[in-house]
Amino acid sequence: MRIVLLGTPGGGKGTQAKLICNYFNIPHISTGDIFRGKIKEGTAEGEVISSYMEKGQLVPDRLTISLVEERLIKDDCKNGFLLDGFPRDEKQAEALDLIMNKKNEQVNFAFLIDVSKEIILDRVLGRRVCPVCRESYHVKYNPPKVPGKCDVCGTALVHRPDDQKEIILDRLTIYNQTTQPILEFYEKKGILHKIKGDGGIQDIFSQISGVLKEA
Ligand SMILES: [Zn+2]
Repeated sequence: MRIVLLGTPGGGKGTQAKLICNYFNIPHISTGDIFRGKIKEGTAEGEVISSYMEKGQLVPDRLTISLVEERLIKDDCKNGFLLDGFPRDEKQAEALDLIMNKKNEQVNFAFLIDVSKEIILDRVLGRRVCPVCRESYHVKYNPPKVPGKCDVCGTALVHRPDDQKEIILDRLTIYNQTTQPILEFYEKKGILHKIKGDGGIQDIFSQISGVLKEA
């Protein structure tokens, strides 16, 4: 099961990605995690990535695509994977097709989690993450057991600097402009599934897992 998960930033995509990967036992491949990993390694690549992310800009395609390919050829992707944050536009969707063709494989599911702007702002502004283990929470919808502390490791939770209103609205505009062609791309292949994302975490997950179990 090779899945592409699409959805507006802050629309609960990360949470769904984790649920799907745990349930179906496939690796969660997120460009955000790949980027953060490279930055942590302190390589020249990491510095380039960091310079873009700090400005709230997108990492250039060539670098992103090569990092995704490097990740997809690892052994743990043999039985499938879930891609989160990639492809981001039609060019990347085509690049992903080429990567898959080289492996004699194909993406078999593309999900769009469709969420309204008001709900996205509400979710993102309340989001808190653990800087150590990356577990994520929401002050209202998914609060930690002890306020402000990570359930897993006890570290103080943080509000990520890129989770601010202006940055989110900018990202949404860019997202909508670039996503439409990807949706058409997967629709033509007959593998696009639109999921209503304004409901709760479990509701969204049961729509997605319903599709995957039927296949
Ligand atoms: Zn933690």
